[in-house]
Amino acid sequence: MSKNVGGADPWAVGWLMRVLVLLAVLAAFGVPLGVIPIVAVTSPAEGGAAPEAGRIVIPLSTSAPTPTVAPLTPAPHTPRVGIIAGHHGNDSGALCPDGLQEADINLDVARRVVALLMQSGWNVDLLDEFDVRLNDYKADALLSIHADSCSFPGKSGFKITRAESGLHTSSADALVDCIIRHYAERTGLAFDADTITYDMTRYHAYYEIDRNTPAAIIEIGFMLDDRELLTQRPDVVAQGIVDGLRCFIGGE
Ligand SMILES: [Zn+2]
Repeated sequence: MSKNVGGADPWAVGWLMRVLVLLAVLAAFGVPLGVIPIVAVTSPAEGGAAPEAGRIVIPLSTSAPTPTVAPLTPAPHTPRVGIIAGHHGNDSGALCPDGLQEADINLDVARRVVALLMQSGWNVDLLDEFDVRLNDYKADALLSIHADSCSFPGKSGFKITRAESGLHTSSADALVDCIIRHYAERTGLAFDADTITYDMTRYHAYYEIDRNTPAAIIEIGFMLDDRELLTQRPDVVAQGIVDGLRCFIGGE
């Protein structure tokens, strides 16, 4: 019986297979190593650089041109802050026997705070105690500036609080923390957490402003024992408040 049934010579087929395998092995190792160049058959796309005559070497690792996307840089946010000059536009606030008025101290400090913040390019509203702009007031922070009365000889220190629970935004805690730290550091006054009253935690402005506006009220010192600081160094008082506001807005 002849094995040559199909007309194909097994010996020739065997050699053909050997040659094909050899070519495949050569291609597998030769192309990555650059021994065997890849020769393109088609002409280059229009606009391409003129190739060397006849041959175009196609780089193996072509990186597709990535469209250049401008990085997303959000427009810098200009902080808006409201500063209430306590009692201003309404009443004198606390009074000392010698005629020193709380409202005058508050206004002096508030104006200095506003000036310093505006130097930083912030939008700042100097507000009266019962300013109509407090209705639904929207800002990055609101701070009302007050001073403690002359009625407590031997008392020194400052206090600050946000609204009582349920009426404040969570970030108001950060506002209070920032001002406590920086005001104490700048002025040297101690924080007095024990004498915070309902007058402060139920301060009228908390009920008027937008609920998302972090707000606090500060008593910057006592008009008797801290008088020298409040009346002779109001720039230091203002700087302490500004330090605290910058800490809060800057997310310190
Ligand atoms: Zn007051």
